[in-house]
This record gives sequence, structure tokens and C-alpha cells, in this order.
Amino acid sequence: VNSTEQREILAAACKALAFCGHDDFQLGHVSVRESATTYWLKPKGIDLGEATAATMLLVDLDGNVLEGSGDRPHEYFIHGEILRAHPEVHAVVHSHALACIAMSCLTEPLRPYSHHALPFVLPPIPTFRETTNLITTRPLGQAVARELGPANGLFLQNHGMVTIGADLRWATVYAAMLERACALQIQVSSQGSGSVWTSDEELLARRDYAFTEASVQQIWEYLERKGRVAFGAPHAPVPGLPG
Ligand SMILES: [Zn+2]
Repeated sequence: VNSTEQREILAAACKALAFCGHDDFQLGHVSVRESATTYWLKPKGIDLGEATAATMLLVDLDGNVLEGSGDRPHEYFIHGEILRAHPEVHAVVHSHALACIAMSCLTEPLRPYSHHALPFVLPPIPTFRETTNLITTRPLGQAVARELGPANGLFLQNHGMVTIGADLRWATVYAAMLERACALQIQVSSQGSGSVWTSDEELLARRDYAFTEASVQQIWEYLERKGRVAFGAPHAPVPGLPG
């Protein structure tokens, strides 16, 4: 995958995420690794749905912008420090998806009420509670990367979510699943009665069935189509925006 393709896939991921409820009035950003020390990042001031290949920034792990004319998001530390601390991670999604924020306010853990939550229970998805403010310093970014540990994502208390992946398809599909899992749990919890969820014995078998390379590819292609229909092709400039 060359740089041009990376930027197009990144724009496609942004649009797919906007399609499944991760947009927040231009906030939220997604990254994909270009090399061991550089990555492509969605800029600030452009919504997930509006992001195009041409708007993407090439940034190093310290946040220096190497290519692109937009502004880097204030929270670029989330991406740089996770990519630095976790060499196996190649893509990071951070958003303020509503149900994820709602879950981050609860003290109960995310439960496997449906298959959507299965990537986030073994190990359990942690919640970063050091601050509810934006992650705008390197120490905070490092603390987020530590809190993530071996999990596929984390909640940021009263703020949002992060998912990671070996590539953008996995990070995007995880983000889509996490928002739906949280929405479902909020619905179940609001009933105020007892509830049941998938047992530990069934968890791994269900997860390994639902989240294979082939199934993730298929969900990614679906999300990519939906993002394209809703927000245009990843390389098509959006009227009124630079690039
Ligand atoms: Zn944020």
C-alpha cells in the first residue's frame, strides 16, 4: 500500500465512521501508520464525513507535520503515543461517539450482550480516568497508551473512545462494533431489571466466529460503501473545503 492509497483508505475509514455515528461536529480523528515513525492523520476542523485523501496530514510520532496544510488535532498525542508504545498497532480511531461516552460515565463494565461487544471483553476494555479533559500532552498520551494495554480499545471517561487495529479495517470495524455494543448496553441498563449476557465459555467461540479476517473484510467493504454513498468518494473534494 503506497502513500496515496493509505490516504484514500484513511478518508474512506473517516467517512465510514461518520456513517455509523462517530461524528461530533468536526471532532474526532483517525490515523494510520505510514512507517515506524510516521503516520497519516485526519486534520482538525474537517468532519469525519468531510475528510478526503487530499486533506490528510503526514505526522511524525512527536506530532511534527511533515506533509499537508491543515492543522493537526489538539489530541494528536493519542495517536503518536499509542503508535509509539504499541508497534503491532497500525491504526487508531478516536471519537466522541455518543453511546461510547454514555458507557464511559457508567461504573459497570461493558458486557457481552451481543456479538458487537465480543472484541472488548477478553481482555476487558479499560476506562481512562486520569482526566476527563482532552489528551493534549505527551504524558497524558503515554498514560492512555499504557491504559490501553492489550485491549482493542478504551473509553475516555466523560469524553469518548479509542479503538486500535493491526490495520485500518480492524480499527474501523472495532469502532463501529463498540458504538453499537454501548448503545445496546445503555438500552438494557435503562430497563433497570436484571440482565443476562454471553458466558465466558461461549465468548471465545462466538468471537472467533464473528471476527475473522474474512468477516472483518466484508464488514469493512460494507462500511466503505455506506460512507461513500453518504459522504462521497474518499478522493472527491467537498464543496467549500480546501483540498
Ligand atoms: Zn477527544
